[in-house]
Amino acid sequence: MKKFYTPVDLRSRADMTAYLENHFRYPTMNSWNQATSYACNLKVDRLGLSAGIVEKLLDMLDTFEFQEAMQDLRTRFGMEHDYLWQAGMNGRSGGYLVLYQGSQKPSGYRSYCRECGQRNYKSVSESGDVCGRCVSHSRVDYTTLPLQITFTACSSLHASMSMKIWIRRSTRRFGPKGDEQKVQQRATALKSLEAVFNNQCRRFQSFNAGTPELYRKSVQEMISTVLPFRCMRI
Ligand SMILES: [Zn+2]
Repeated sequence: MKKFYTPVDLRSRADMTAYLENHFRYPTMNSWNQATSYACNLKVDRLGLSAGIVEKLLDMLDTFEFQEAMQDLRTRFGMEHDYLWQAGMNGRSGGYLVLYQGSQKPSGYRSYCRECGQRNYKSVSESGDVCGRCVSHSRVDYTTLPLQITFTACSSLHASMSMKIWIRRSTRRFGPKGDEQKVQQRATALKSLEAVFNNQCRRFQSFNAGTPELYRKSVQEMISTVLPFRCMRI
């Protein structure tokens, strides 16, 4: 079976850097956001297992028990790292184990319903024990206030370009954020405008007006070509 553990000399900065730089990476969300993190390909047919075991594993993937066991392992990993590092699954079929950065903070919930699980930001002493959802007298205060676990999916771990920079660059290129159609129209218009300008530059490189009248006519032609695009307020 394929092994993912690679021994690294933790006393050597060069070894650690090389290990991280060469580590397999995978998108933290979708491939378009360009945010990636350290990952392992856990697709069962890529683990170097026999066909029989692969088949059994594929069947197991659909079971609740298997998913729960996997979730337990990921939760344990998060707990061991104070949720600053969390393991998540990503990919179309969830076949990639991806490392995420995260945090934990008080969730703000003070009580919960023992019947339906509905949580409430107020304590029982503040608002009584009636549940707002199932209307039963089942609300009790948390003895230990629950934490809210969050993770950052849209930023790259140790990569050169983050989502924030990507958005900033896209906005600078295409103007303020609009809907998808407007962004595409703007991109197409910019492309056309660029082509027109390049064309004009080429024409005017060898431009040699013999008379003022010819010069005026040529400039007029250029302006009337470019003007429709300027009116689009790109
Ligand atoms: Zn309830």
